[in-house]
Amino acid sequence: MTKKVLKFGGTSVGSVKRILHAAEIVKKEHSKGNQIIVVVSAMSGKTNELISHSSSISEKFNKREMDVLLSSGEQVTSALMAGALNEIGIKSKSWMNWQIPILTEGEHTNSRIVNMSINKINSFLSEGGVAVIPGFQGISQNGEITTIGRGGSDASAVAIAKIFQTESCEIYTDVDGVYSTDPSNIPVAKKISKISYDEMLELSSLGAKVIQSSAVQTAMMYDIPLQVKSTFTDREGTEIFSQENIDYSKAVTGVAYSKDDAKVTIIGVEDKPGVAADIFEPLGKNQINVDMVIQNISPDGKTTDITFTIKRNDLNKTLKTLKSNDKISFKSLDQNDAVSKISVVGAGMVTTPGVTYKMFRALADEKINILAISTSEIKISVIINEKDTLKAVKKLHSIFNLD
Ligand code: ASP
Ligand code: MG
Repeated sequence: MTKKVLKFGGTSVGSVKRILHAAEIVKKEHSKGNQIIVVVSAMSGKTNELISHSSSISEKFNKREMDVLLSSGEQVTSALMAGALNEIGIKSKSWMNWQIPILTEGEHTNSRIVNMSINKINSFLSEGGVAVIPGFQGISQNGEITTIGRGGSDASAVAIAKIFQTESCEIYTDVDGVYSTDPSNIPVAKKISKISYDEMLELSSLGAKVIQSSAVQTAMMYDIPLQVKSTFTDREGTEIFSQENIDYSKAVTGVAYSKDDAKVTIIGVEDKPGVAADIFEPLGKNQINVDMVIQNISPDGKTTDITFTIKRNDLNKTLKTLKSNDKISFKSLDQNDAVSKISVVGAGMVTTPGVTYKMFRALADEKINILAISTSEIKISVIINEKDTLKAVKKLHSIFNLD
């Protein structure tokens, strides 16, 4: 007998028909003799709809009430799921955050799960019942309802898997796994059957939005294997686990890209200690996330150029912040708001020499100009002109034998 968490995302519970379908998956797993804890998201679109109600009242809607409001989405699906299971002959019961309780810490709308009681639910499981728990929510030390950040039901599932010490944590979603690149634009993309936590984090931060990054981080921290599966097909999904369990025959596992980047160069900035801190501190304080940073060497020892990338919708705020920063002086600013970032990711890179030059050569063969480069142990990223994005991804996908 295996204890499992089965988590269903918004599209998987997006209609009553889909909830009934998800309940059949639960029934199948349960009838194999497994103990099942189901974790559910709100029906797809529901959380956005609730947020838009709140913002028609106020853009600064009270955060405590926001949590009461948003947690209702998952309450609805919990009840419908447990009801659907009962209907098809499976003993089931839903528990709300405060009934368990799921204890959280942190501020409203951005809390994190720190603990939960397991006794009631464990005894229900051992009586053959299926427990249904709402994702995305908890209750604070003071008894206030909390939520744990958008997309948080993945993190709930991982936390529940950890605290209940389940053997597996299966994330059911509307895609059948993680792909070597974006399958909707690059049809030769292949499903990855096994991927490490690190690679998944690199890929998900770059847009493979299959599973919330912070959930992967928690899974990595506690070594909880995750399985991403499709609710709508029987095809094999993707397993995400620790690196030691993966045999790397390929240097590169996937090619990710983002198309909403912008690049800023500060030309002729003073080259002395503290300048970089003076440039980036106000950006951080203004919630601007800086991605790559490149500083040139200073030919005259006095001034240098610093290039960095940000999300495109932060460009105006960034330029304004730089111009009004009287701690720094520079000659001019250069900007490009039509760039994209292409990254090749692979834990196999560590042991395979030559990945870097192969990537650059391939881009040169396509006459694609590289505007900036950054690397980590398992990732090489380049900034290029946005118009070349798909050409570059296709080429890299093919030369690293992923087609
Ligand atoms: N319903 C929440 C959201 O849309 C949590 C989740 O679905 O993961 O962000
Ligand atoms: Mg989700």
